[in-house]
Amino acid sequence: MSRTARTVIRGGLVITAADEVHADILIEGPRIAALAAHGSQAAAGWSADRTIDATGKYVVPGGVDAHTHMEMPFGGTFASDSFATGTRAAAWGGTTTIIDFAVQSVGHSLREGLDAWHAKADAQCAIDYGFHMILADVNEHTLKEMDLLVEEGCTSFKLFMAYPGVFYSDDGKILRAMQRASGNGGLIMMHAENGIAIDVLVEQALAAGHTDPRYHGEVRRALLEAEATHRAIQLARVAGAPLYVVHVSAAEAVAELAHARDLGLDVFGETCPQYLFLSADDLARPDFEGAKYVCSTPLRPVEHQAALWRALRTDDLSVVSTDHCPFCFYGQKELGRGDFSRIPNGLPGVENRMDLLHQAVVEGKLTRRRWIELACAAPARMFGLYPRKGTLAPGADADVVVYDPHAEQVISAESHHMNVDYSAYEGKRVTGRVETVLSRGELVIDARSYVGRAGHGQYQPRGICQYLTGH
Ligand SMILES: [Zn+2]
Repeated sequence: MSRTARTVIRGGLVITAADEVHADILIEGPRIAALAAHGSQAAAGWSADRTIDATGKYVVPGGVDAHTHMEMPFGGTFASDSFATGTRAAAWGGTTTIIDFAVQSVGHSLREGLDAWHAKADAQCAIDYGFHMILADVNEHTLKEMDLLVEEGCTSFKLFMAYPGVFYSDDGKILRAMQRASGNGGLIMMHAENGIAIDVLVEQALAAGHTDPRYHGEVRRALLEAEATHRAIQLARVAGAPLYVVHVSAAEAVAELAHARDLGLDVFGETCPQYLFLSADDLARPDFEGAKYVCSTPLRPVEHQAALWRALRTDDLSVVSTDHCPFCFYGQKELGRGDFSRIPNGLPGVENRMDLLHQAVVEGKLTRRRWIELACAAPARMFGLYPRKGTLAPGADADVVVYDPHAEQVISAESHHMNVDYSAYEGKRVTGRVETVLSRGELVIDARSYVGRAGHGQYQPRGICQYLTGH
């Protein structure tokens, strides 16, 4: 009989979405075998190959970042993190699972897109990963393909009401995809911005000589996010399908989600740290520096943040993901000098999410359990990975983070591990830091040293959304 490696994590405060308990954790091979109170007879009896002392630390589930774009093609360039560099940076930040977006190109099948993304990620990832599918071309063939993808564990599909001529789907295509999802268990994810109207405002702004990055935020009006969110909700109701709205940033869009949820609809919303911690003031930074903050939906005036924090507490927003899509300032963001519409859209952040949300705990905006729910448990449930991912319980994958809640750090491009030449949070001081990370029982970060390897990360087929009635 082959021997299974055993690890014991002793002395920490174990925090999940449900509980906070002073417990030791026994890991056997890739999974958690048991939890037992500190000093209990059970815990005292555990022998182990490796013991990790977590005294004075938190022990939390590895983060699940349900929205990343490694190597994403956009505007004639590619997001600067590969699956290798991006998943390593994620691990440094306490995230042990990402769900990235495979892209279907117009005129090609979903299968071709999914295969291409598997090829990019295969043998590269330091942590586990799954895929959503971007539907750029809804037609009879791709609608049928959706059923097959759901069966093999790619259970969520992203549609765009923005980016006409690239990813955009009109209302008819959206309705057809939603109808298909209502029958096959898929979850429709929506980029909800009225791209047709936005393109008119872009054209008018450029014609008026308004070319600086700040105009990216001004033309992408909050009302056009709210309008698209409202329309997506109504289309989902007509189709009888659940809906997940990605990267919600406007207070008016949150109000649409809150109304839908008050009606008891299967409508869910996600926001990202950049909308909670950054604002249109960053987009307005001089000397083209605002380009570092160009993403869509855009950063909003600071007043919107209160509505987002409130919605995170009331569950009108259920998940915090990063929408990690980094482009270097030099050579990439610069493509849009003199024309904000040519600035590649996206921010780096996969490494910063757990720390920034912990900072919200420090500042009294979230409870510790809500931190873990938003960053680990809810995304795992939303996308069919729970309880293998997102919690610490017997039988779960041993994706575990030992977190020092008292360590201070200053976020900086000097010290981060993402492959991008700036940090959106440069100079920000936060309390709390990842110390040790295990992925399926194997050390990835050991007391602030990277000991992982490309190819450890495995593809994770997913079940369907676990928030739907009857599942
Ligand atoms: Zn995205």
